[in-house]
This record gives sequence, C-alpha cells and structure tokens, in this order.
Amino acid sequence: MDPLTEAQIRRAMTNCSRGEATKMTLPGRLDEIVWDQVDFLGWRDPRAPLRAYIVIWRDGEPAGIALRVADSPKARRVSAMCGLCRSTRQGGSVSLFTARRARGDSRDWNSVGTYVCNDLGCSRNARLAKATADTQLDGTLTVGERVAGVRTRLDRFFDEVLHG
Ligand SMILES: [Zn+2]
Repeated sequence: MDPLTEAQIRRAMTNCSRGEATKMTLPGRLDEIVWDQVDFLGWRDPRAPLRAYIVIWRDGEPAGIALRVADSPKARRVSAMCGLCRSTRQGGSVSLFTARRARGDSRDWNSVGTYVCNDLGCSRNARLAKATADTQLDGTLTVGERVAGVRTRLDRFFDEVLHG
C-alpha cells in the first residue's frame, strides 16, 4: 500500500469522534513500516489493548475505522479462521473485532464484526510461503490470490461500516 502520515491517519478515522481520533495511539514508528508488504495498516492501541484500528486507501483517499476487540476465554482455547487472511490459527490467535457503523449511534446492533488475527498480521500471513506451527493456510491458493483476498474482504468490511 502507499505510505500514510500521522496526520493522514488521524484525519482518515470515520467511525469515531474527532477527540478519539486525536487521542488514539499510533502504531510505533511509521517510517519503519515496509509499506509494500502490507495491504492495510492495522494495529492494537498500545495503551488500550482492546481497541484496534485499520486504515486503508480507498479511491485514492485514506479511510480508517476504530474497532473493539472481544476478549473471550472460549476463543483462547479453540482454533479459528481469520475472516481477512483466511488462515486458521491456534487458540487465542483470532478474536472478534467489531466496528461501530460510521453513521450510526453506539448501540450494539449498529456495529459490524468479523474474526481477525489478534495481531492484525494478516498481510504477513497471506504472504507466507507455507504453513507454520500455528498458522494453517488454504493450500489451493497462490500467495497472490491470498493477498488479493485480504484486500477484497477488507473492502467489503469497510463498505459495511461506512455505508451499511
Ligand atoms: Zn488474519
């Protein structure tokens, strides 16, 4: 993806208040990110671990969403498939992430959720040449197809959050 600046990231946030966007903690040093190896910028808030953020480019503009991570004891035991990179991860590596719809209020029914790798490392997982001890891949797909799939599913998720 094309690089993002701090100002672009804060301005891109769609489903939280200006105040929240100003206060959110950014993902470490942006100049250390290998931008051509990631399909989206995704991170957990280091100061509020159950908050997460995803920023992508859509139609030439940065678009970002804030998410809540469900910390469920059951999810720590079972293997689960990530809804973005479609890799199957060992217990505790995938959680339910929910985003408030951009135009809605804060009621539960007005949010959308998907299961995502806890560390939001889907770009990395999609590019794995082969499965690892804790990450199983769909062996019928090429790396290129897996990478494209992350972006397609993320676009669909953003559609639901921004316009659903
Ligand atoms: Zn994933």
